[in-house]
Amino acid sequence: MILYKTPEEVELIRESCQLVSRTLGMLAGEIKPGVTPLQLDALAETYIRDHQAVPGFKGLYDFPSTLCTSVNEQVVHGIPNNRPLKEGDIISIDCGSYKNGYYGDQAFTFSVGEVDPKTLRLMKVTRECLDQGIEQARAGKRIGDVSFAIQRHAENHGYGVVRELVGHGVGKSMHESPEVPNYGKRGKGTMIKKGLVIAIEPMINLGTKRVKMLKDGWTVITADHRPSAHYEHCVAVFGDRTEILTTFQFVEEALASTVNQ
Ligand code: MG
Ligand code: MG
Repeated sequence: MILYKTPEEVELIRESCQLVSRTLGMLAGEIKPGVTPLQLDALAETYIRDHQAVPGFKGLYDFPSTLCTSVNEQVVHGIPNNRPLKEGDIISIDCGSYKNGYYGDQAFTFSVGEVDPKTLRLMKVTRECLDQGIEQARAGKRIGDVSFAIQRHAENHGYGVVRELVGHGVGKSMHESPEVPNYGKRGKGTMIKKGLVIAIEPMINLGTKRVKMLKDGWTVITADHRPSAHYEHCVAVFGDRTEILTTFQFVEEALASTVNQ
């Protein structure tokens, strides 16, 4: 069952989303060689709790941490550990918060120092996939239009589109109906209507679309061990427009000031 949101509920989800976006912006200034995912996780948890919210993932399905930190060939759901990040790594950070009864959810893939051009291109195209998916998330379209747009752009570049993990509705639960796959057919699937709030989150692999699960029962990695990128926004559908509730603005500002140092 899809729970359509009132404008008042959308504002509460936006508040939770903006906190996640600010958390990612704070983390953006901390990511460098030598830093560990566990350090980032501690910073994120403190930041979220300091803003009258609680981490959205910690304890959800028994996940142990505030962040999912997925490095290089890790696709999603990496558990923060104490292995220092190295020059040339990429790290996808997925963060959730719970505030005023509503969840926020967002992900961004960061470079650690200088990253090779092939991987940078994967990151750029994955972000474009997200933009093109959001472009289709309008009242009167269907979820398949979003899915198709993401898949087409990724596959036009020869990349693998992960099938096993999908976007989702967001609200009083972190994961609500409908599922929002990153592959699909135009004109198929759930009708997109006013009040729908969904997380759109392409997970795109440099090589094969196939993935494997590590023994920890959480971490999803690419079957060929080549890198994977992940970007996520939450969006709210109104009758005449769609608004992005999360933002990359804080990440962009932090990255720009790091470059200028
Ligand atoms: Mg997420
Ligand atoms: Mg999500």
